[in-house]
Order: sequence, then C-alpha cells, then structure tokens
Amino acid sequence: MVKFLDIQRITESFQPELSAAVDRVVTSGWYLHGAENEAFEREFADYCCGAGAAAKCIGVANGLDALYLVLAAMRSLHPEWHDGDEVIVPAMTFVATAEAVVRAGLKPVLADVGADALLSPTAFEAAITEHTRAVIPVHLYGQTAAMDAIAAIAAQHGLFVLEDAAQAHGADGVALYGDAAAFSFYPGKNLGALGDGGAVVTRDKALADRVRTLANYGAERKYYHEYQGCNSRLDEVQAAVLRVKLQRLDADNALRREVAKRYMDGISNPHVELLPTTPENSVWHVFPVFADDREALRKHLEQHGVQALVHYPLAIHEQPCMRGCCGEKCSIFPEAERIARHELSLPISPVMTDDEVQQVIAAVNLYSRPLTSHNFQNKV
Ligand SMILES: *Cc1c(COP(=O)(O)O)cnc(C)c1O
Repeated sequence: MVKFLDIQRITESFQPELSAAVDRVVTSGWYLHGAENEAFEREFADYCCGAGAAAKCIGVANGLDALYLVLAAMRSLHPEWHDGDEVIVPAMTFVATAEAVVRAGLKPVLADVGADALLSPTAFEAAITEHTRAVIPVHLYGQTAAMDAIAAIAAQHGLFVLEDAAQAHGADGVALYGDAAAFSFYPGKNLGALGDGGAVVTRDKALADRVRTLANYGAERKYYHEYQGCNSRLDEVQAAVLRVKLQRLDADNALRREVAKRYMDGISNPHVELLPTTPENSVWHVFPVFADDREALRKHLEQHGVQALVHYPLAIHEQPCMRGCCGEKCSIFPEAERIARHELSLPISPVMTDDEVQQVIAAVNLYSRPLTSHNFQNKV
C-alpha cells in the first residue's frame, strides 16, 4: 500500500539526529521556555524572512493558537477593533482559519476561492465593508495566495494581512508578504513536530511582544498579569525536533516538487483534472486532483494499493460549527463547494520512492469513470 503520508518513514529519515535532540532535552532538565525554543525562534524567523530582516518568531502550542494570538494581540493593541468586526477568510480552507476569528471575538466573512483553491482577490475586495479589519489569505496545499493583489487591496482599505502559512513552510515570500504569518507544526505538515506546535512570524516588534505576552498568561513579568491571556507554548522537545528538521526543509520541499512534477508529467486521464495552473512556487503540502465522482476514484486507487484523502469535504460555510458565525453574507461559494465535492489528495512526501510515485501515476491513469446510467452489462 502506498500510504498517503508515511510519517514513520519521515521520522526515520532524520535519525539518529532526532533521537539525539530529544535526548539532549530529556537530560537537560528544562522543558518549557528554554534554550531550544529560543534557538528555534531565531532560526525559523531568519529562515522565513532572512537573517537581516530582524523578524520575530514566537513559538506557540499549535497553528490555531498562532492564528488566534495574532488577532487577539491586534485587538489588545488596537481598541478600535470591536467585538464582531469582520475578518475576511476564504470559504475553502481548514476550519482553524475561521475558528481563530470566532475565538478572537471577531466575525469571519467568507469570500470564494478561485479554481486554484486560493482566495480570489476579486471576491476578497467585494466582501470588504466598513467593519472589515483584516484578511487571512491561506496558502492552501502549499501554493502561495495571490499576495501582490491581496496586499494592494488590503493597503487601499487599511486592512491587516495575516497569512495562514500552516501548509506552506518554505514557500518563497511566505511570512514576508503579510503583516504576520501563522504556522502549524502538526506532524503531517511540511515542517512537522512529533506532536503539536505552532509559531507566529512577524516583523512588527510591538505585535510580536504582545503575542508573546498573551501566550504567557498575559504576563510580561512572572505573576504580574497585564492582560487576559492564555497558555500556549512550544515545548523544548518539539523545538529541538523542529531545529533538526528545519535544516532539511528546503531539500525536502525540493523532493516534494519532484514528485509533483512527475505527477503532472505522468498523469493523463480525461476523468482526472489537475490544478488549472502549475503553481511554480508551491511546496506541495497537498497534491490535489479533481474528479466528477471523487469517491469512485478514491475506491479505485485503494484497490490499486494507493491511499488518497480528501482536503476538505465541506466548505467553511457548510461546517455545522460555523452555522450562524459568518452572518448574512454566508451564502453560496460555488468554487469552494466544487472543490469540496470533487477534490482528492494523492500521496506526496519527501520519502516516497520512485516506484511508489510510478504506482500512483499508473493507478490514476487506469481509472475510468463508472457509468452513471444503467449498467451496460444489464442490457446485453
Ligand atoms: C493545520 C492547519 C491549521 C491548524 O494547525 P493546528 O496546528 O492543527 O492547530 C490552520 N490552518 C491550516 C490551513 C492548516 O492546514
């Protein structure tokens, strides 16, 4: 079976350095807010923005917290951001993007994506009202959103730009386009920990300081709590693991690009569509294909020893938990819904063998759409 993602094989590919890093923390006797976290924060900020940029990175507990803490810090710094003010979010993304907005006391206003599953700048602009404060473009599947257009529209309307970079570690320009970027180090991400983790990256020092304070129970000084904060930490074991894995992130993303290129060159099936454009800059967190009958394709692949998954089966406005959260603008988003019905993600990772990639291509090319009308055999 070609697994969708063989995390065990990925972990093994980092041995013995990974176990040595964990050991180093175990024997250090220091497990939170220590030397590993501090070093990782410096290394990841420099990795994202360049060593000269003096960008700040704050390690936090997960990607949802990273998104939430940026919005909460903006509210804390800007009293003119009121309860229920609006944040524009693409209608096709992982639920955390919208969830973070709700948690920060703001209102997610959805805008449709394009055929590339990325926030449409036109839809974004159309969704802006006098209550809009921010926009969260999501670099879905590892592609970068149309940041030049989005940033220009945001600047025109004085909106804050928060990049959801949870699927795009290492994609060119990510964390440099927006005012802040949120990352997740969930094990399956391009840069994944051995558990949960997340980070905020920003070049705005005041914002970075406030995120750090809020993530530390609202305290700048121990036991003196200035703000209503929360507890969100990247622990020392995860930071040490991420430092090892960060060293190979560019090389691993290059391997993902090679797998994606082989898929794009090799897949040829009138019933299976690829993304409409070739995203040059993508770090291929996900390799999506689109089929009329997505479930039939998934079953076919399974029968040919290939595990494929769906990202995501529901658009944000279709998620039961978001009912009533997005206001009256929450109507229909045809592209987000089309993707939710037809998307299927093929296996992609830096540790796939040539044979596995070939097996996936062969299996996809063998697929023929099931007859929708009465079975031909019944008629003869
Ligand atoms: C994974 C992910 C998140 C959330 O990250 P967690 O660490 O699981 O909280 C947010 N946004 C997107 C687009 C993601 O893929």
